[in-house]
Amino acid sequence: MAFLSRKRKSERKDGRGGGSSRPGVGMQRRDNRPARNERATPPHPTEPVRGAPGGQPAFVLKEGRESSIQRRHPWIFSGAIAQIDGEPASGDVIAVLAYDGGFLGWAAYSPTSQIRGRLLETDRNAQPGAAWLRSKLERAVGRRLALARESGRDVSDNATRLVNAEADGLPGLIIDRYSDTLVVQILSAGAERWRDLLADMLPEVSGCPRVYERSDAEVRSLEGLPPHVRMLAGEKHDRPVEISEHGLRYRVDIAAGQKTGFYLDQRDNRRRVGDLARGRESLNAFCYTGGFSLNMLAGGAKSVLSIDSSGPALEFARANADLNGLSGDAAQWLEGDVFVELRRLRNAGRSFDLIVLDPPKFAPTAKLAEAASRGYKDINLNALKLLRPGGLLATFSCSGGVSAELFQRIVAGAAADAGVSATILQRFAASEDHPVLLEFPEGDYLKGLLLRRE
Ligand code: SAH
Repeated sequence: MAFLSRKRKSERKDGRGGGSSRPGVGMQRRDNRPARNERATPPHPTEPVRGAPGGQPAFVLKEGRESSIQRRHPWIFSGAIAQIDGEPASGDVIAVLAYDGGFLGWAAYSPTSQIRGRLLETDRNAQPGAAWLRSKLERAVGRRLALARESGRDVSDNATRLVNAEADGLPGLIIDRYSDTLVVQILSAGAERWRDLLADMLPEVSGCPRVYERSDAEVRSLEGLPPHVRMLAGEKHDRPVEISEHGLRYRVDIAAGQKTGFYLDQRDNRRRVGDLARGRESLNAFCYTGGFSLNMLAGGAKSVLSIDSSGPALEFARANADLNGLSGDAAQWLEGDVFVELRRLRNAGRSFDLIVLDPPKFAPTAKLAEAASRGYKDINLNALKLLRPGGLLATFSCSGGVSAELFQRIVAGAAADAGVSATILQRFAASEDHPVLLEFPEGDYLKGLLLRRE
């Protein structure tokens, strides 16, 4: 009943069915929808409940577009929406209804993004609010504690991803823990509403007294959100946070470093590559603050040449090597463009036994995959040529728009052009504190190959 009266209200408002993306479509479809007792196959296994509870604002999806939500894919694209009932504001939690009014879930509203809604909850009686947020945070923290126990990680490790957005049921929210400090990234209009609650809850839920917000990522502009960088809880201090990973110490620049300050997704891969380094002349391209470099040096590499285009990142890398007593002659640092430097090294007749390629995201979306492919091919081709026979290449892509399959094809093309044959020894993914939802493959962004040149 509430559903019907709200519909009439929205029709009155603008005379075309309350904000349909195509004029008239929403209203027409709603008028033509089957009567309650006519529908043969219910969208839910249980009896569906129709309409938004309490006449709250709602998305009404186009016919047939409910299946993605029923498979728990968390993104509702603008093209799937027939109309919006009511006048929700950016970030509001609103109901998601099927074409026939069947309740599908609660989503956060992003009026300016193509991802118009992010599914938060499918239980009609659990409209997301403060208690809901707390339970999600507690669950995410509990999962990380269990993971650390189960995987037998070094007990001194104190850096981990605590919340991995959609995969932890909290779309648009990233939280990384660096020792006693949390770094929060808010990336969607829905998550923007959680700021004050996060400031209140996180110290208690996580046991970390300091919470810093680094919401300055480019993608916020798609959500109509300005950058937001400040302390949310605890004391501000200017020294970098110090963390420990695999027994190595790093200073993390949470204020000016890339992303939240450190690339936690490569934790397990850094260890694996370090274990392979003994006695090898090594090259770490795109080294950032030295993660792979330190693991290779600690693993007994004969030498490690590390390249990055960022001066500040290299300064941190050098200081991190110092901090661990690894800054001897074996460690060399080079500020430069990897695309150029790999060619220079070839021209200089250099060769290596172990090379790491961990470039930045060349293709955030599938549309940019073509240009990204050329970039990946170029660096992989030159790296394979720099590799001695029997040498190892750990090559990565963190582009969401490049699938693991496509990445392998690109690297195979690079090997063919380089005139070398290689064996895949291992496939890499993000470390386990970056879970991936089976129903949300978009979250599976980091892929890599460990190759041996034959
Ligand atoms: N492997 C690192 C993370 C690499 S992030 C780790 O484990 O911590 C990607 C890095 O590539 C960044 O440090 C960025 O400064 C650098 N970068 C981006 N474009 C580059 C280019 N063309 N040449 C060299 N470095 C580049």
